[in-house]
Amino acid sequence: MSKYMSSRFDNLEAYTPGEQPRDMQYIKLNTNESPYPPSPEVLEAVNREEVSKLNLYPDPTAKGLKNKLADRYGVEAKNIFVSNGSDDILNFAFMAFCDDTTGVTYPEISYGFYPVYADLYRIDARAVALKEDFSIDPKDYHNAGRTVVIANPNAPTGMLLSVEDIKGILDTNRNNVVLIDEAYIDFGGKSCVELVNEYDNLLVVRTFSKSRCLAGARLGFAIANEGLIADLEKIKYSTNPYNINRLSLIAGERAIDSDDYYFDHCKDIIEAREYTVTELKKRGFTLTDSYANFVFAKHERVGGEELYLELKKRGVLVRHFSKEIIKDYNRITIGTKEQMAALISAIDSIL
Ligand code: PMP
Repeated sequence: MSKYMSSRFDNLEAYTPGEQPRDMQYIKLNTNESPYPPSPEVLEAVNREEVSKLNLYPDPTAKGLKNKLADRYGVEAKNIFVSNGSDDILNFAFMAFCDDTTGVTYPEISYGFYPVYADLYRIDARAVALKEDFSIDPKDYHNAGRTVVIANPNAPTGMLLSVEDIKGILDTNRNNVVLIDEAYIDFGGKSCVELVNEYDNLLVVRTFSKSRCLAGARLGFAIANEGLIADLEKIKYSTNPYNINRLSLIAGERAIDSDDYYFDHCKDIIEAREYTVTELKKRGFTLTDSYANFVFAKHERVGGEELYLELKKRGVLVRHFSKEIIKDYNRITIGTKEQMAALISAIDSIL
């Protein structure tokens, strides 16, 4: 840190993204990307002609993309916010809906970025322990009296709350925003988007990074009552109005046009997940009940870090977290069936 950095960031611990090594070709099962390329329509649309327009700013209102998303999710364009990855929305939401008087609460084991935003904006944060089986007890968030942030399915466990559970949280927090981060909802969970017309405090956050194979495009969206969307727009126009580049905007529009392609690949991922779970269980692993494009697994004999290191030596990258409660586990992204078979044979050679 230089002497010029404001001292208010002295204690800020930045988020550490999963490793993206360039030293060799890994089977990358560590950052929950899709193993599949974007749809043919997306590949065709992001072409020379679009690139040649990069001298011009993109549409700051993202009207085309918002209209497509509104149609797709049965809401109006005024209920949609789009951004540079869903991390951007989380950032704006912490900025907009928390302050010195309104704190935040989230599960103790969840997406590692939530505590970073809380620290960045010096928000009082209450991290709630999971139950023994790593599930979230929705009652822990009833009458929270602060902004509630829950990933559903949760990460890195993949475990799911029902729409009814979320309704209970919304009903008892009518004066606070409830942010449901649905980054992984397309892999078998039921979205709570249908509740946005009923609850003006619900902010559903989604991403193109996982089920729509566009992690590199950086595209996220939120669906909510128009009031919350207007709040996010205010923050966007106070920080970076052109927050989505031209190529990502067009990629996002074409991705929505080709939803069947993504739906089919989500089915492939779910099948590969079922295969992986079965094979890991046969080999002495314990797993959480994951509805995401990853599984969370620990072995009865091999420690979490050891397994991570041994897999890396064999060219397979998974994600290990050093936090005490989950240090025996690894989060393993679900890739293609072939990649998962390679993982299983690497595990066999380790065991
Ligand atoms: N929420 C959760 C729960 C995540 O795991 C991730 C991916 N790391 C994100 C949000 C952010 O995804 P993106 O910024 O790529 O949309």
